[in-house]
Amino acid sequence: SSMRLGAGMDASKLQITKTKSPKEKQAPKDLIFGHTFTDHMLTVEWTAKDGWAAPQITPYGPLELDPSAVVLHYAFECFEGLKAYKDESGNVRLFRVDKNMHRMNTSAERICLPEFDGAEAAKLIGQLAKLDSAWIPEGRGYSMYLRPSLIGTTAALGVGTPDKALFYVIASPVGPYYPTGFKAVKLEATDYAVRAWPGGVGNKKLGANYAPCIKPQQQAASRGYQQNLWLFGDEGNITEVGTMNAFFVFERNGKKELVTAPLDGTILEGVTRDSILELARERLPSADWIVSERYCTIKEVAEAAEKGELVEAFGAGTAAVVSPIKEIGWGEKTINIPLQPGKEAGKLTETVNEWIGDIQYGKDEYKGWSKV
Ligand code: PMP
Repeated sequence: SSMRLGAGMDASKLQITKTKSPKEKQAPKDLIFGHTFTDHMLTVEWTAKDGWAAPQITPYGPLELDPSAVVLHYAFECFEGLKAYKDESGNVRLFRVDKNMHRMNTSAERICLPEFDGAEAAKLIGQLAKLDSAWIPEGRGYSMYLRPSLIGTTAALGVGTPDKALFYVIASPVGPYYPTGFKAVKLEATDYAVRAWPGGVGNKKLGANYAPCIKPQQQAASRGYQQNLWLFGDEGNITEVGTMNAFFVFERNGKKELVTAPLDGTILEGVTRDSILELARERLPSADWIVSERYCTIKEVAEAAEKGELVEAFGAGTAAVVSPIKEIGWGEKTINIPLQPGKEAGKLTETVNEWIGDIQYGKDEYKGWSKV
């Protein structure tokens, strides 16, 4: 298409302007997720006429946008979330950034924003992470959350294909999601509001998918639940939990089954989800385990809990890696989910957390997933 004409994104053209007034860094223990930003940001402008301009790393600061910019009116925006980690030798590592860049291109394509060379974008993100590496706190659980965004910047109110866009990346040092160990959450099974639907855009990381989920979350919170368990359809298929993919473990006839929803277009294709499935298929003994991508209804979970067949459940995503679930409110019913005695997580939840943490921090060089 004409959108692909012009220059491709090219990391070798990067221009760096360093800040003259570095900010003071907080003590790592005081970090609140997504509230602190590093000294620099990355921007790459795009026009339909010329393609991608030379990438820029500049001091962190406000963007200048025309009030008519289409992102502000019609939500021409997609984003990503990934993390940079500091390993024991002080190297900066990015976890599976190629997956995030691929997903971002599928999101961009869906809303007529320009696609880009994912490998070049990954190099640029690596450059930003390295330039601001002093901001990455050391130690397990600490990392730098990277937020790539792509917005349509055409200054006109016509609803159409943007002919100007901006790819930009900001970086935020973050501490452990569970600073004092896992804390299992309570979910409200939500069917009166729907996060995603067949033929929709739930499998794309569009900002427009997120704002409508806050009201149901507030409603769940008002009833004492931390998050929504998003259901879909007459059967009550479990799709996702909050902004994480959902996993359940059943045990029937001496065999355990790890279950998550299939990628049918209503599920965000989580990088953590994909990593867990691959590692589980490789590392859990197949004599004892089945790993399934299949529909699983809230009714199945409730019945399994009653019969003692429900072993554990967790959410999975970049922010927390895994988040154990202890209870689901479903209408009048309360579904209790087992935890290990005296603990706030199930056994596989803990195991998966270790597997992925070891890879992220470079203790396990599994398939080069955590690139230096
Ligand atoms: N589902 C939704 C709706 C999300 O926003 C996220 C976070 N990106 C996830 C699942 C988990 O995806 P990932 O493992 O790539 O962070």
